Amino acid sequence: NAPIEQADPELAAVLAQELGRQRNTLEMIASENFAPRAVLEAQGSVLTNKYAEGYPGKRYYGGCEYVDIAEDLARDRVKALFGAAYANVQPHSGAQANAAAMHALIRQGDTILGLELAHGGHLTHGMKINFSGRLYEVASYGVDPQTFRVDMDVVREKALEHRPKLIIAGWSAYPRHLDFAAFRSIADEVGAYLMVDMAHFAGLVAAGLHPSPVPYADVTTSTTHKTLAGPRGGIILSRDEENAKKFQSAVFPGQQGGPLMHVIAAKAAAFKIASSDEFKDRQERTLRGAKILAERLTGSDAQAAGVDVLTGGTDVHLVLVDLRDSQLDGQQAEDRLHEVGITVNRNAVPFDPRPPMVTSGLRIGTPALATRGFGDEQFTEVADIIAGALQPTCDIAALRARVEKLAADFPLYQGLESW
Ligand code: PLP
Repeated sequence: NAPIEQADPELAAVLAQELGRQRNTLEMIASENFAPRAVLEAQGSVLTNKYAEGYPGKRYYGGCEYVDIAEDLARDRVKALFGAAYANVQPHSGAQANAAAMHALIRQGDTILGLELAHGGHLTHGMKINFSGRLYEVASYGVDPQTFRVDMDVVREKALEHRPKLIIAGWSAYPRHLDFAAFRSIADEVGAYLMVDMAHFAGLVAAGLHPSPVPYADVTTSTTHKTLAGPRGGIILSRDEENAKKFQSAVFPGQQGGPLMHVIAAKAAAFKIASSDEFKDRQERTLRGAKILAERLTGSDAQAAGVDVLTGGTDVHLVLVDLRDSQLDGQQAEDRLHEVGITVNRNAVPFDPRPPMVTSGLRIGTPALATRGFGDEQFTEVADIIAGALQPTCDIAALRARVEKLAADFPLYQGLESW
């Protein structure tokens, strides 16, 4: 039982290097966060050793008395957090939660209607080579070419035209609230189930800072590692128990074998933290940081460099930077920010004139920096560093020094040397 530094020095070095990267750069990938120490500890625990096929009290393996408690805690906490009557905490990931939810409610060949991938939808909402595009007939709605917002009249027209069995609301890259009540009424009109995938904004919902989809949707799915700041994983929630049996069997044995009990325990820890005042304060800083970013990236310097923000602002934890009029394309902008020490991802804007590997946009999120402790003052400085880096030319070394100061002022995972 040698520690990893002795058992596998090569791998230990990788872990140490990654910890160094996370500490010394500014993480602004909108789907990432820093899991709290309690989550890391639960996930790195002996619960990884346990087989527990089935559900608490009804397992196919012996020795489940303690992992049952962990799963009960996770399930009860997430139900309370989101006001759900039903929860399943076993999906290994967001994609598997979506696969199981669809598997439970619809059949192969049925039609699904979701947000187009190129307009901010997710792979599991109907991408051609994803399971969702292979098993189901896919219809999509896009954003409006003028406002870049989802137009509910268009969603309704598409629903009436394609008569889907399942309508999906949710996104990976969209900066505004969706109208869940309108989605519900369209689903009712065409006799479809409504699934909301709140993977990105679940943390904001938990903190009461974003409308909750749970009362409207037949099924709400999420990841647990984005704004929620838990371990990598998925969950399925429902406002009632109507389809509970179908969800249970769709996850196990429909999609998965043994649940990841160490991850489920880490989910339990994350859900407890997500009900705290500290978490709410963090989500408030996340939102304000994104608004500051949007304001500074629509200011005169940014506009002069052809930089703008889609929809002119944000209601959530991310901004979509529009580089269609900029000399820098998405790839160049991502590389420039990487040199400065800020990690983001390039992202196609809807109706993007540039190819998908290059793109004309960036997706920039504030959750990880808010977890690190950033408030208005630091987000203002970060926004100005980004605006400076997106000018046609800039002083990389000077911007990098400002990033290093912010990183040093807000140390990450203090006391954790080996991981
Ligand atoms: N749903 C949405 C909206 C997402 O943005 C993502 C991940 O990016 C997922 C589902 C899939 O989550 P995972 O990567 O855990 O499979």
